[in-house]
Amino acid sequence: MTITATKLLGKPVQEAILEDVKEGLAALAAAGHRPPKLAAVLVGEDPASAMYVRTKTRTCAELGIDSEAIVLPDSTPTAELLARVDALNADDGVDGILVQLPLPDSIDTAAVLDRIDPSKDVDGLHAQNVGMLVQKRPRFVPATPGGIMQMLDRAGIEIEGANAVIIGRSEIVGKPMASLLMHRNATITVCHSRTRDLPGVCRGADILIVAIGRDAMVTQDFVKPGATVIDVGINRVAERQRVEEIFGARADWEKFDERGYIVVGDVHPEVAEVAGALTPVPGGVGPLTIGMLMANTLEAARLRAAPAD
Ligand code: NDP
Repeated sequence: MTITATKLLGKPVQEAILEDVKEGLAALAAAGHRPPKLAAVLVGEDPASAMYVRTKTRTCAELGIDSEAIVLPDSTPTAELLARVDALNADDGVDGILVQLPLPDSIDTAAVLDRIDPSKDVDGLHAQNVGMLVQKRPRFVPATPGGIMQMLDRAGIEIEGANAVIIGRSEIVGKPMASLLMHRNATITVCHSRTRDLPGVCRGADILIVAIGRDAMVTQDFVKPGATVIDVGINRVAERQRVEEIFGARADWEKFDERGYIVVGDVHPEVAEVAGALTPVPGGVGPLTIGMLMANTLEAARLRAAPAD
């Protein structure tokens, strides 16, 4: 395999984002304000979700942002979750609230997200914040697409006039990604499970953003030579045979045996032979999401400290 793609690493971009956050935190402290506080609500025992919440609270601690993880059982009724959100909304010591998704099927996710005070909605998923983003006057940009914009900019990838194809139309990645790229004058195509000739549509992309949730689905035939490919997917592959299919002789069996799974993106590793630039999984988009969440938490604290600004 001859790799041609430049690896777009998330860590340096995350570090740059966090440096800005540190400066903002210092300015807030110098103005006499307490540190920001983030409350993260986790319902159920999904190991990946629990890990994301741990990473978020740990990063808060490293920066001097206060945080609280509220862990509730799988059986929590929607009404109880709404009451928890109400209490966090009313708590003057809390600046940012996030509810870790996905919630269990028994919970009305839209009702919960819409209950969060929009001025504390650091994931940017409340209908009011979604509307503001679409109208190009964003308050909280959802962390993953916001981080991807930073990565594209810092890597010097030209967005204006580019053909950008997004696979996935979720509220958290695909839709806000489309707004952000459109506002920067890219030409946008959003694909999903009903798109006809998905590889053909994707081959028109100068920038291909992939957020599907299916391991290694995007293969070389989806990619125009030299295109920039951003792989948002995080998939745990626990079947030995599938790991073999994807990685062949390059499979990291030591890691597989140690953990019982390998983390794989939505983009097949062989795309690195065709793309001009590609984010690795892990190590690409993931760190950006954390960085932007910290930036949004700082922004929430700033808004509360000086609401007229
Ligand atoms: P969702 O499940 O909400 O959305 C998936 C999208 O992919 C849907 O729009 C769906 O289409 C589309 N899709 C599914 N199958 C196909 C197919 N065969 N062909 C074309 N489109 C298809 O996922 P998310 O956006 O929440 O997440 C996507 C991935 O990104 C996941 O792996 C998730 O773990 C990861 N993720 C990573 C983050 C990070 O920090 N790196 C942050 C957020 C997510 P339809 O609408 O028609 O059903």
